Amino acid sequence: MAHKPIPALTERQKDRFHKRVKPGYPDECWPWLGSVDRDGYGMIGISYDSYRATRVAYYLATNEDPGEYLIIHSCDNPNCCNPRHLSKGTTLDNIEDRVKKKRSANGESSGLTDLVLADVEEIRRLDREGVRQGLIAEKFGVTSACISNIVNGRTWIESFDSATARTGRMKGELHPMSVMTSEKVRSMRELSETGLSRAELARRFKVSGALCSLIVRRKIWKHVL
Ligand SMILES: [Zn+2]
Repeated sequence: MAHKPIPALTERQKDRFHKRVKPGYPDECWPWLGSVDRDGYGMIGISYDSYRATRVAYYLATNEDPGEYLIIHSCDNPNCCNPRHLSKGTTLDNIEDRVKKKRSANGESSGLTDLVLADVEEIRRLDREGVRQGLIAEKFGVTSACISNIVNGRTWIESFDSATARTGRMKGELHPMSVMTSEKVRSMRELSETGLSRAELARRFKVSGALCSLIVRRKIWKHVL
């Protein structure tokens, strides 16, 4: 998913950004002091739009908009804006990084990774986003069959079912009756931000107003960024 481009910042906007970062020694984490979203990521408003502080930090430090890439923290601290702790990478780099860290945390030097629930949820999410199962398998250090079993709910059935039970509905595209896709969800949210009414959204996407409202308020399809 392409992120919205970061605009060129005026000196005043840069100043406003820097005032919200608490710099420390070069190797320390530099916490974001401004507002954060519910995932703990710092957010900053620039020209009536909001951006992740880490993306802006990377942009100001390197003069390069990370664009379609994610910003990955070497320190695993989502609130950190020290450019030395930030690098750009793909979703898969991010997973690889996490898997590697988990392995070293567990003292595993080699071999297959034991998957944990968070991995399983991530695997299902990647599959919904259309990432090839072979590629997911490679990144998690398991077989393609293992991935296929997970995404089809043949293994980790408990989490597959409990997710359903918890929300009272299956998530997103897994729902057999769903007419929404990740792409549609994103464009619905974008249109809503431009001020289009729920009723108009419902008409355009041919779904109920109630469903629109749930999607726009991120009560469902939470896994779509
Ligand atoms: Zn840090």
